[in-house]
Amino acid sequence: MADGVVDPLLLGQRVVAILETGLRTATYKLATLMALIDHCVENLPEQLDDDLAVPIPDLARRVLEVYWRQVVPFDGHELRQSTQPRARILIAANNLRNAAGTQSQSLAIEIAAIRAPDTYQRAIDEITLCLAQQPLHRLQRLPGSDASDCFLYDDSFLHDHVSRSTLRAHNDSIVLNPGVAHGLARLAGLLKPALEIMWVDDVRRMNKFLLADRFPDVAGHLFGRERVMLNAVREPLKEAFGPHCFYCNTHLPAGNPIDHVLPWSLVGIDGLANLVLACARCNSDKSGALPAIAIVDRVLERDQETLEDIAATIQWPTQHQRVVAAARGIYRGQPAGLPTWSGYGDTVRLDVSFPPAWLST
Ligand SMILES: [Zn+2]
Repeated sequence: MADGVVDPLLLGQRVVAILETGLRTATYKLATLMALIDHCVENLPEQLDDDLAVPIPDLARRVLEVYWRQVVPFDGHELRQSTQPRARILIAANNLRNAAGTQSQSLAIEIAAIRAPDTYQRAIDEITLCLAQQPLHRLQRLPGSDASDCFLYDDSFLHDHVSRSTLRAHNDSIVLNPGVAHGLARLAGLLKPALEIMWVDDVRRMNKFLLADRFPDVAGHLFGRERVMLNAVREPLKEAFGPHCFYCNTHLPAGNPIDHVLPWSLVGIDGLANLVLACARCNSDKSGALPAIAIVDRVLERDQETLEDIAATIQWPTQHQRVVAAARGIYRGQPAGLPTWSGYGDTVRLDVSFPPAWLST
């Protein structure tokens, strides 16, 4: 392998090694790493060995989005996510919930940000500082070591009491080492499910009441496997595009599945631009598979004005740009010839020799 190009497998091993630190005191490291991976997928640099500046406020937005749904009480309990008495990130998320006047998991954080813009900005500022003072400067430390092994980014300017002015002097950013962004993006499909499993374990350990078997779906609460919230988009999509499966065009019964075109397990985008009506057969056959390029083309070509109208009516974001960026990041990281899902029981091999506009720009 050429100098400067990171071997994704070695990178993955080192990431897993830093997480196997025995008992984590908070889930913040997991959240930070997940945010970093998502950021890399959606902001993939041109070249394999490019570095990538990552604004910490961007990470803060992603971290807030994850905790936004997690701070809603689960079976009447507020879940602990830290062994510390004061959990700054959870407090910021709860303040935003109060300001936006909602305890519903289904209200998108984009809508809360519109309802309470000042509180949203304060939450981002607070979480930015919190990430810089805690998880970002501890993330690369191996168990039992006081020194960082800066294989992801230089963290020498970060510490427990780093000030806002020091952060500003570094453009509020960390800079991923050459090759790391492509490496993390390629590992997303492996690392993200592993991080979720560790997260669920941590939350069970920090909340003793969850150890009883009568709470099986902690993962659903934490990571949105709850499909009920998607019900709100079904009828509007049927009205706009007809009651047909997006993939096989079969007529749909009431209560049909809503499918995430870019798999939820990979990028977790709930915006309308990533959602389609599907029949149960196509939905379960596709599952977490990567869809064929032609399918992504078709979903991005849907009339944006129609989607924006639905978004305004039901207060649900479209996230079109985010879907475009994520699709680009996902497909550019895949080897040619990879089988992709092209319809019930069908696959086609990935071929980007004539890339569509969203992939080439
Ligand atoms: Zn179908």
